[in-house]
Order: sequence, then structure tokens, then C-alpha cells
Amino acid sequence: MNLEDVNAVKQLLSAPQKIVVVPHKNPDGDAIGSTLALWHYLKKKGHEATIIAPNDFPKFLKWMPKNEEILIFEKQSIQAKKYIEEASVIFTLDFNHLGRIGQMEPLLEASQAIFVMIDHHQAPSGYAQIMYSDVTMSSTCEMVYNFMESLNDVEKIDTDMANCLYTGIMTDTGSFKFSSTTSRTHKVVADLIDKGADNTAIHNRVFDTNSPSRLHLLGCALGNMKILEAYSTAYITLSQAELDKYNFKKGDTEGFVNYGLTLEGIQFAVIFIENAEEGIIKISFRSQGSFSVNEFARKYFDGGGHTNAAGGKSEQSLQETTAYFETVLENYKDQLTA
Ligand code: 5GP
Ligand code: MN
Repeated sequence: MNLEDVNAVKQLLSAPQKIVVVPHKNPDGDAIGSTLALWHYLKKKGHEATIIAPNDFPKFLKWMPKNEEILIFEKQSIQAKKYIEEASVIFTLDFNHLGRIGQMEPLLEASQAIFVMIDHHQAPSGYAQIMYSDVTMSSTCEMVYNFMESLNDVEKIDTDMANCLYTGIMTDTGSFKFSSTTSRTHKVVADLIDKGADNTAIHNRVFDTNSPSRLHLLGCALGNMKILEAYSTAYITLSQAELDKYNFKKGDTEGFVNYGLTLEGIQFAVIFIENAEEGIIKISFRSQGSFSVNEFARKYFDGGGHTNAAGGKSEQSLQETTAYFETVLENYKDQLTA
């Protein structure tokens, strides 16, 4: 964070504010971890703070300290709307354009609050007066740690906050293996453990809570995997009927896309998941090396993200979407086999 922004935030938080903290739609470990940690911090500093998530988050995050305080806009819109209208400051975490918050978008657009963005995705849009945007960061949680450090408040990080921040860094780095994981990331994580983050318990709570039906759904997904060796690409599909058959619950498909990348020689892995209720195919893209799935998702599938992890969507049918995908893949044959 640059000095000018640090001073602006110090000034802003020097008097009690009414603050709303917002993660992106379909919040993941980093989005929930960063918003909760910041919320704990803002409350400690004497502000009124409320987290409003556009929609619900997976069960494997529902152990996080004070997660029950999070308002879900889809379920509690009247209450949430009131908080947004009264907010003097709005923090947006782990996303960088308002299209990522679904039905909350018009409310934030209409707000007169001062916006503070903390985010590590590419191509931020300009809605925030104070922008802490850094695409080299492993996670928004690592940035929230830096944010508190800039405000000389690292000693305010308690066990609850440490558990929240550790979770987001762990999930966004694929358990510290992605190339965004730096020595600094490990230093932050080490300090979080010193501050009480229970690393083994967090790992168990996030990754070792499978239900039999989720593992059967994974079996179905892997059975559907199509390998396009000539393009170093593997993709998975899951139709709504398959999701229903295996009693799909939010979060069940988390991590499925990564299996493609575990195949030797595969550089590009994709999962297409039908969502009948929203009338879309939700897509996750992952890559290894220099192939930018962020650019690919942006160009063809109305999405974005990071170089090696991005998302997008399609309003075509599942079959039409994968056919289109295979067509546009042709443009990258040289790049993917290089
Ligand atoms: P996931 O595939 O795990 O949902 O998302 C991977 C990364 O891409 C995350 O950082 C996520 O925030 C971002 N992402 C996922 N879906 C979208 C989307 O529809 N639009 C944009 N801009 N980013 C997305
Ligand atoms: Mn993130």
C-alpha cells in the first residue's frame, strides 16, 4: 500500500464509521477469511461493521470465527440494503469490479460511501477512492495482513483473526504450492501460527469434510473428463441432472478442476458446471506455466481472475459451450504445445 493511501485510511478510520465489508459472489476461503479478519479488526478499532455477502458460502467455511454474523444478501436483502444505504465506508475485498457482486451491484453503485478496495485480481476498475490492488499477492488475506501492518496494528491480530487469515492464504495458494506463494507469504503464515492460527485443524476443517455424495460426484466428474492431448488440455463437465443425482450442495465441486492439471503434460484444465437456476454454465479455468487463463476467460467467457486461475460463464447449453470452447482452443494450439 502506498503512503498516500495509508495516510488516507488512517484519516478515514480515525473517527468511528459505519462500515460495510463485501466479498465477491460465491465467496471462497480467501473472500470469507479476509472479510471476517477485517471485520474483527474494524470492530476492535471501535467502528460499526457488517459483512454482507452477495450469496451463501460453503459449509466447509462455516466454522470460521463469527461467520454467523455475515449477512447473506440473497436471504436478508432488506436488512442488508439498510446497512449499505447507511454506510459511510465500504470495503470491497477479493474482487475489483462491481459486476462480481451480483444483485448487490446497483446498491453499491448508488452509494455515497467512501470505497476501499483490497484485492489481488487483474484489471481493477475505478470505483474505489482508496485502492490497494496488487496482482502479485498470493491472496487478499495476505494483503489484509499487510494492511494492518501498514496501520501499525499487527499486534491487534488475535487468534480469531489469525485463523481467518490463515484459511484464506491456505486456500488461495492451493496449500502453499502455487507460484504466488513467496517467502513473504510463509513469513506471514508463520506469524499467524505464532498468533494462534491452528494450522492442522484449519486444514482438516476445510479439506477433510467430504460427504459420500461429494466423493461420488467427484467420481462422476472424473468419469466425464475429456483429455485433448494435442492441446495439453483436459476438461470436465457436470450437468444439472448429474449434480441433482449426487445431491449437490454449495462448495461440493470446489477443487475438482485441479485434477486435470495433475495429469502429466496437461497445462490447461477446465470445468463446466451447469446451473439451471441461474440459466448459465459456470466455468473454472486453471493453468500451469505462462498460459494466461485470465486473458482466455476475459476474451471468450465473460470472466477473469489471475494468470493461472480464472472463472467465467456462458449462457449457451452445456454442449454448445464445450463445442465453442474446443473451437476457440484451436487458436492456442501453438502456445499450449510449446
Ligand atoms: P474459481 O474458478 O475458483 O471460481 O475462481 C478462480 C478465480 O477467478 C478467483 O480468483 C475468482 O475470483 C475469479 N473468478 C471466478 N469467476 C469469475 C468471473 O465470472 N469473473 C471474474 N472476473 N473473475 C472470476
Ligand atoms: Mn483471492
